[in-house]
Amino acid sequence: MTDRTRMNLPPILMYHSISPSTVPDPHRLRVHPERLERHLRLLRRLGLRGVSLGELLLAEARGAARGLVGLTFDDGYTDFLEHAVPVLQRHGMTGTVYVVAGRLGGENEWDDGPRFQLMAADQVRAVAAAGQEVGSHTLSHARLAGADPATLTAEISDSRRVLEDVLQTEVRSFCYPYGSYDQAAADAVRAAGYDHACVTGDYDPGDRFTLPRCYVSPRDGRPHIVARMARHHLRLRSRAGA
Ligand SMILES: [Zn+2]
Repeated sequence: MTDRTRMNLPPILMYHSISPSTVPDPHRLRVHPERLERHLRLLRRLGLRGVSLGELLLAEARGAARGLVGLTFDDGYTDFLEHAVPVLQRHGMTGTVYVVAGRLGGENEWDDGPRFQLMAADQVRAVAAAGQEVGSHTLSHARLAGADPATLTAEISDSRRVLEDVLQTEVRSFCYPYGSYDQAAADAVRAAGYDHACVTGDYDPGDRFTLPRCYVSPRDGRPHIVARMARHHLRLRSRAGA
């Protein structure tokens, strides 16, 4: 039986690269570490704590997700270990980093913009050792909507196996590259043994295999973050009243 119940989770913020680099960023994927620092300080001031998706869903199951915000970081750039982990640790927070399992130690060759270094296996292990969650972002950063069954198996199941080999622990979280998914992809994620998955975009509260997220732009100040979280809560409320 598939459980397609919509989940009323707290907002989940979506970051990519966390870096002070000034290399052009045409896809607007880079947030400066000092800006992340300000965002996390804001969460604390609001009485909120940023957590990985694994932690968020466990808390939700206990009815204890209030006061939490999901923090996610896509693609697994080396700057996550270098710049995001220290900020997260300073605030006693955790996040989920989504790693492209077939590109460990490589670059983001799927983008047509500038190249950024991706974490190698030992760096992925260091992230987990630092108390952060590692999730799968497929083998090759593939678009999964409309993909054939063999591609779904390779990108979804095989990437999980690769990361579990690296980490020697269960990988529970999945993230669709480009937010590209359909029902077959979501079913394949569930069948592969993941606990949950997230998409891109905060349009609609989804079920646990299509969790929405709020994009954080490179220039987002504190008011933007507050507005994004408020919009998420409004959507939940209007859905509950619908
Ligand atoms: Zn990605």
